[in-house]
Amino acid sequence: MSSELVVVVNNINHYFGHKSLRSQILFDINLTIKSGEIVIMTGPSGSGKTTLLTLIGGLRSVQEGSLRVLNWELYRASNEKLAQVRRHIGYIFQAHNLLDFLTARQNVQMSLELHKQIRQREARIRSEAMLNTVRLGNRVNYYPTDLSGGQKQRVAIARALVSHPRLVLADEPTAALDSKSGRDVVTLMQQLAKEQGCTILMVTHDNRILDIADRIIHMEDGRLIQETK
Ligand code: ADP
Ligand code: MG
Repeated sequence: MSSELVVVVNNINHYFGHKSLRSQILFDINLTIKSGEIVIMTGPSGSGKTTLLTLIGGLRSVQEGSLRVLNWELYRASNEKLAQVRRHIGYIFQAHNLLDFLTARQNVQMSLELHKQIRQREARIRSEAMLNTVRLGNRVNYYPTDLSGGQKQRVAIARALVSHPRLVLADEPTAALDSKSGRDVVTLMQQLAKEQGCTILMVTHDNRILDIADRIIHMEDGRLIQETK
């Protein structure tokens, strides 16, 4: 299974705006990511990294080109199919996006509620176990406002990984953290990914964490420049 291609991007172009304001943001993107790989994408602000990540995540429609994620073609995919693909993807964003009125455990458990076959009791046990793994076993019933930045981001990681997604997409997950917490969060992601055999595509500006990547790719002015580590 290790040679299986999790992401296959072929000749993707993407545009924002209409008529005279229409401008091309992504130019002929080609990229393949194998199962179990950790790929880091770097590049200046505004170069199109988030746009590409959200396309791969099935969070916006493919305009031109072909995009296969976990063997589903996303070009012209129905909303239903996109929703199906998204259930196999874990998302981690710069802002942790936790819900303030839910505890750490409830935030994590929420992502299991998309999986109808998992019972409430099991979902609870799995959520607590995952919080234990990210070393928040003693913060299960805390609300996000009572957690530090690094702790909140670890809850977000637990939420993204509790359903054992086959692909994790992370958009500058350490941007809001000091360097030690940032390192900590990324090491944890790497460790969990290896344990669960999932694939990671992570956008980062943080030069100190590039070493966890199997491969680094670089986006510049909407064009992808690939390099091998
Ligand atoms: P990055 O993540 O590398 O900083 P983005 O993918 O967010 O870059 O943005 C790439 C370019 O697309 C930028 O010029 C940005 O202003 C533009 N852009 C992003 N989202 C939109 C949008 N919803 N509508 C119009 N332009 C957008
Ligand atoms: Mg971005």
